[in-house]
Amino acid sequence: MFRIVTALLALQLGLALGACPTVVTRSQWGARAPTGTTTFHNPAHYAFIHHGESGECHDRATCSAVIRSYQNYHMDNNGWADIGYSFLIGGDGAVYEGRGWDKVGAHTQNYNSVGYGFCFVGNFMNKLPTAAALQAAKDIIGCGVTLGKIQSAYVLRGHRDMGSTDCPGTTLYNQIKTWPHCIKESSSRSAPPLEYLSRVLIMSSALVFAFVCLQVSLVFGACPHIIKRADWGARAPHGVTHLAGPVHYSFIHHSAGAECHDRATCQAQVKSFQNYHMDTHGWSDIGYTFVIGGDGSIFEGRGWNVVGAHTLNYNSVGYGYCFIGTFTSHVPTAAAQKAVKDLIACGVELGKIQANYVLRGHRDMGSTECPGTAFYNLIKTWPHY
Ligand SMILES: [Zn+2]
Ligand SMILES: [Zn+2]
Repeated sequence: MFRIVTALLALQLGLALGACPTVVTRSQWGARAPTGTTTFHNPAHYAFIHHGESGECHDRATCSAVIRSYQNYHMDNNGWADIGYSFLIGGDGAVYEGRGWDKVGAHTQNYNSVGYGFCFVGNFMNKLPTAAALQAAKDIIGCGVTLGKIQSAYVLRGHRDMGSTDCPGTTLYNQIKTWPHCIKESSSRSAPPLEYLSRVLIMSSALVFAFVCLQVSLVFGACPHIIKRADWGARAPHGVTHLAGPVHYSFIHHSAGAECHDRATCQAQVKSFQNYHMDTHGWSDIGYTFVIGGDGSIFEGRGWNVVGAHTLNYNSVGYGYCFIGTFTSHVPTAAAQKAVKDLIACGVELGKIQANYVLRGHRDMGSTECPGTAFYNLIKTWPHY
């Protein structure tokens, strides 16, 4: 009896506060089963807005396919239990169920158990989502309040407010700052001048090192074995931009996913990177120049003669080397470290890399944690950094 009264009250409140939009269920978009779940103790204090940094979608079939690719990437590359987001919003204005209201997600580091992540499918750096999608996001958040899943005094934030990322894209971020519940915060991102000054000093001492390194590479720098694209089963690129070396930079990356220690596992990872870069990002090919496995194997990505997609604004003046794994708290294997050093020495020998090249971590050039703090601290001790 009480239940019926409560249900009627909730229904009336729902009509008053905001009717819940129809949600495309996991089975409707073809979700895989999660490998584990953690119960969310709602109501949540935060609603976080994300974008998927992928192509957009405007119908059920396309949105479902893109969302399945997100799930595959989160589970297979990041090693997560499920797709990270709580809900996803398609350009068709439909809301797709991710982890839903009752499971802790993986979308906003340190805040997953106190907030839900709402991800717009697409890339909204320079444009807004469709009006239908923007309305759908407001509706699903309002619905969460109605259902008691989100606190009525919730705080709305963009992913970038909570961590080092461009998400949800500058244009969308500026839009949500105009929405109710979005508390403005001053976020200062300018690099400390002292740090910059010390980098300049390190760069000039790297010039002195360069002559020594060139000589060492001539003696020891026989080129390591490289697993060619055909040998790991690469797809053909959609397009190629020729790179006229020698380049000035060598950039170190990590894949931010699981590690691998044998040919079969590493090769499967490399293929999944290529699929993700081509199908989800819409790039012409795998982004990295080379990929390094935990067993010290080197996979040819775009290779020496092609511009990559690894380090924004620096792709035509440097090569990107991606270590398979997550190196925030430990460094890659000795074999993997040796592999990249041999590879760079080889690049110098072949005239693909300038003898006085500069080594950098991805995070030196942009807003990312890549290649992981532990590994980043290590490469700062290497020659040419
Ligand atoms: Zn995000
Ligand atoms: Zn990177």
